Amino acid sequence: MSIRDRWNGLRRRSLDRLARRFCAARAENHAGRPLVSVVFDDIPQSAALEGGRALLARGMRGTYFVAGGLEGGVAADGEPFFTRDDLLRLAGDGHEIGCHTFSHRSMPRLSSTEVMDDLARNRDYLASRLGEMPVHSFAYPYGDTCPRTKRIVRRHFPVARGVYHGINEGALDIAQLRTLAIETCAMHWDMFTAALDRAAATNAWVVLVTHDVRSRPGPWGTTPTDIARVLDEVQRRGIEVQTMAKAHAAVRGGATAPPGLISAAALPVDRQSIA
Ligand SMILES: [Zn+2]
Repeated sequence: MSIRDRWNGLRRRSLDRLARRFCAARAENHAGRPLVSVVFDDIPQSAALEGGRALLARGMRGTYFVAGGLEGGVAADGEPFFTRDDLLRLAGDGHEIGCHTFSHRSMPRLSSTEVMDDLARNRDYLASRLGEMPVHSFAYPYGDTCPRTKRIVRRHFPVARGVYHGINEGALDIAQLRTLAIETCAMHWDMFTAALDRAAATNAWVVLVTHDVRSRPGPWGTTPTDIARVLDEVQRRGIEVQTMAKAHAAVRGGATAPPGLISAAALPVDRQSIA
């Protein structure tokens, strides 16, 4: 690893720590039961097909985080990203469509104006594909955030997640939920099942994150066999699987939060407020 890579890694971790420590959006968990959300970032096509199938076969729904700029593209390893039809099918099947940013750039590296333009562009993209719909959940691209970008996201989305490892128990940071990666190449089953057991005992909210779902997945993906095993482990414990929006409503005691629509009209006001 080069000195530059180490420096960038240290910078990312430091900003993440600052955001969690000084910009937490604390929320009591009123669900009274453990919850699991299964989420897919960027939507490689296999996540839409295999991942969606695995959930639907068990009567479950997931949350898919969309970066509009990736539609119709190809990942570095050659796997196609989602198409417009994939997105329509996912929404039609009842999965939640969540918001990344349009460009999928690391947000702390952008100015506040660039961040809001990127969010608005993704919001417009989603509206062009799915019509005017509530967008409730947000995921920071690469999990990268900082106090400044986290404050912007908090103003527009009721719930957001990063990639900081862990389950969400006790008071939650609703603007930067912790996650457990279920990537095949880094899967430690003993640790995973122990985390589920703890979540069941403490009524925690567990957010499971992956990308592609293929027999030979990329470094951030999961095999169909492993995702089936993950869902079986959750089911065996009787833990409810909900989209992030519905799990958030349960955490709020059954009250659905106002949708996190990014209306074009709101943006100029926000720009002024942080200038
Ligand atoms: Zn992403």
